[in-house]
Amino acid sequence: MKSDISGFYKKPIEERIEILKNFASLTEEEIELLKKTGALDIETAERMIENVVSCFSLPLGIATNFLINGKDRLIPMVIEEPSVVAAASNAAKLCRDTGGFKTSSTEPIMIGQIQVSRLKDPELAKQKILEHKNELINLANSQDSVLISLGGGAKDIEARVIETKKGKMLIIHLLVNVLDAMGANVVNTMAESISPRIEELTGGKVLLRIISNLAVYRLAKAEAVWKKETLEKSLKGMEGEDIVERIIEAYVFADADPYRCATHNKGVMNGIDAVTIATGNDFRAIEAGAHSYASLKGYKPLTWYEKNENGDLVGRIEIPVAVGIVGGSTRTNPLAKLCIKILGVKTARELGEVLAAVGLAQNFAALRALATEGIQKGHMKLHAKNIAVTAGATGELIDKVAEQMVKEGNIRVNRAKEILEEIKKQN
Ligand code: NAD
Repeated sequence: MKSDISGFYKKPIEERIEILKNFASLTEEEIELLKKTGALDIETAERMIENVVSCFSLPLGIATNFLINGKDRLIPMVIEEPSVVAAASNAAKLCRDTGGFKTSSTEPIMIGQIQVSRLKDPELAKQKILEHKNELINLANSQDSVLISLGGGAKDIEARVIETKKGKMLIIHLLVNVLDAMGANVVNTMAESISPRIEELTGGKVLLRIISNLAVYRLAKAEAVWKKETLEKSLKGMEGEDIVERIIEAYVFADADPYRCATHNKGVMNGIDAVTIATGNDFRAIEAGAHSYASLKGYKPLTWYEKNENGDLVGRIEIPVAVGIVGGSTRTNPLAKLCIKILGVKTARELGEVLAAVGLAQNFAALRALATEGIQKGHMKLHAKNIAVTAGATGELIDKVAEQMVKEGNIRVNRAKEILEEIKKQN
């Protein structure tokens, strides 16, 4: 069968599933699986994306112990990876005695980029744009009355001439306060709306008009202190001072080496992505923003650590946080709406600050484990369960097979199959 199915999008879901059934030889059991959609119903899913056939579930876990600016919060996290939720909860627990996480953020300003090429005099064109700044801002603001009435909207315009492989181009940045939205649609609409006027003013050709995911003006920061005594109590047989030293050494490794830094920042994003997904936000936007921000001065860690005068560990994070609590799927996906309620955030800024706290917690937890006992010990229990399932274990057998593998220190699918056979024989 060919994949060029005409009008797939117009067909009813039943028919799409029938096509899939023939294409991939799906069994009745597999079809039934597709029809189980969970909390997100199929009609809503159909309104969210194209060519829908089902809904895909991921585990939703709750990280506990978070104290953020003196407020207790339970953190919903959607993630497939074992240990992430436990690690975040543990990191948050270990800094409760110093008051938890202190966070702050900037105004939710996003950048809309407008690319102007084929200019005779790019510098002159730049000047023209800056001279007509107010006119362009007002024009952009005629687009979204809701946003304007709430106090948001276009606030400023910046312009740069950049050197490209095809010569000089003028790049205009429209700075928009998007309030509680992620902002991509708002910003894109505004950027498109002012482009004809920009062509008139510059005599050039406007090409791309699109949001930048490098959201340098929309930042959230978080800070926490982990006492050396608390760290000592948390790890048997190690001195607190040594743990602090080791975590700082782990951090400077990431600061000096992009190979390590990639994984360091991946750990930060384990937490941030999980909350981003749980709240129905665009995790690709958050990822793109985080890594490009980390790269502004060479690829660097999104977090940093130092020792304070007491010898305790101070951790900090600063990240761009293009997330919303309105728009996108934050309200259309019923579970996302519910997760926002659990979090108790009332503004997008508050959500961004939670993301910063969770990212810092996640990174601290990873460094603490990596710099001391290694991560596999804690990770392996859950991993063993996954391997047991892969080997065909179900129900109670999953735990039995996993326990045996952990005891043996041999967590492999082949071994899981053998253990499974042994248990079945015994029964
Ligand atoms: P949106 O357009 O769905 O909602 C925002 C709108 O909600 C505003 O324009 C405003 O009219 C209204 N609104 C009501 N109350 C508001 C409040 N308190 N604060 C702000 N706005 C309020 O959503 P969006 O956030 O503009 O766009 C997000 C979507 O765009 C995401 O789904 C994302 O995946 C997608 N997207 C992303 C990119 C990218 O990241 N590069 C590009 C294109 C689209």
